[in-house]
Amino acid sequence: MAKTLAILGATGSIGRNCLSVVTEQDGHYEVLALAARRSADTLLGAARGCGAALICLADPEAAAGLDSRSLGAIECSAGSSALEELAAHPDVDIVVNAMVGSAGLGPSVAALRAGKRLALANKESLVMAGEQLMRLAAETPGAEIIPVDSEHSALFQLIEGHGGGGGLERVVITASGGPFRGFDKNRLEQVRYRDSLKHPTWAMGPKITVDSATLANKGLEVIEAHYLFALGYEQIDVLVHPQSIVHGMAVFGDGAVMAHLGVPDMRIPIQYALSYPERLSNKIDIPDFAELARLDFERVDNENFPCLDLACEAGRSGGVAPAVFNAANEVAVDLFSRDRIGFTGIPRVIEQALAAAPRIKGPSLEEIFEADSWARRHASMGK
Ligand code: MG
Repeated sequence: MAKTLAILGATGSIGRNCLSVVTEQDGHYEVLALAARRSADTLLGAARGCGAALICLADPEAAAGLDSRSLGAIECSAGSSALEELAAHPDVDIVVNAMVGSAGLGPSVAALRAGKRLALANKESLVMAGEQLMRLAAETPGAEIIPVDSEHSALFQLIEGHGGGGGLERVVITASGGPFRGFDKNRLEQVRYRDSLKHPTWAMGPKITVDSATLANKGLEVIEAHYLFALGYEQIDVLVHPQSIVHGMAVFGDGAVMAHLGVPDMRIPIQYALSYPERLSNKIDIPDFAELARLDFERVDNENFPCLDLACEAGRSGGVAPAVFNAANEVAVDLFSRDRIGFTGIPRVIEQALAAAPRIKGPSLEEIFEADSWARRHASMGK
């Protein structure tokens, strides 16, 4: 029987790729609900295209432009609590959370509380509240988190495929290195926002593309991996791999290293998060290894790209520090996009926020959201 989906963040890059997986795997999935932040017309068009009966706009003002004539039989709701209701809808089997930013956390919690499979692409959910989400997934019947991020999908497949990770010693997450790989401090000081949007291997939204250029994205991914796979930070390595063909490696105690390879196409991890534990065939290319001829690996340049270290430090401190890292980074990227700070100002904004942040051990969700708001105010101050 077809599984029923709710896709949150349906108009973004992951959302669109998810809809194309649904179309290609005709008969396996049907879409009940689509949500977006504010692209009302695009969302409505997507709902018509896939036959979704419900749409939701996180920003209530964006919904105001849709009248009953344009909606037809499609039901429209708006606001963050409507989004959470959608994530917990009794007819939904799988919630794909591809929202951008901390607004994704509420729907993730709602989906898990309602016992859904959460196909998770929203990094902030695990970064901000990893402990709470993993506990909810473990304690709620039916609830599970299947990662959509390519690196975590790779690790998930490697670990699940080998007896749940018995004998696993460490993992390697790969990073493309972004458009500024090899740049020194002087060159990095000159780069502009539009330069940072030219990702060498992946086509993604603007926020994550800038995060890939600073390596803040890799930092968020290390924190996610820590929670998803219950690994210590010292067990998670990051390697720069410019071709983005190897997405993750699992290192076992007997000297065996398993790697997950594939072309950089998000439809692969999205489809697996929907079909797990099954694998469905599709028409996606496999890498042409003879054409590639080589796969390169190099160490991360932590001196010129300090965001990864800052994220790991925040991860090790725990409490609200990962949420502060994330919020300060979001503000810094926004400031950079408006030319208010330079590229090298991004880690400075994050570092200052982390240094001034309150230390709260074992925070509640409320305290995490408070720390998120505090970090946003602090990071915007005087800029
Ligand atoms: Mg990734």
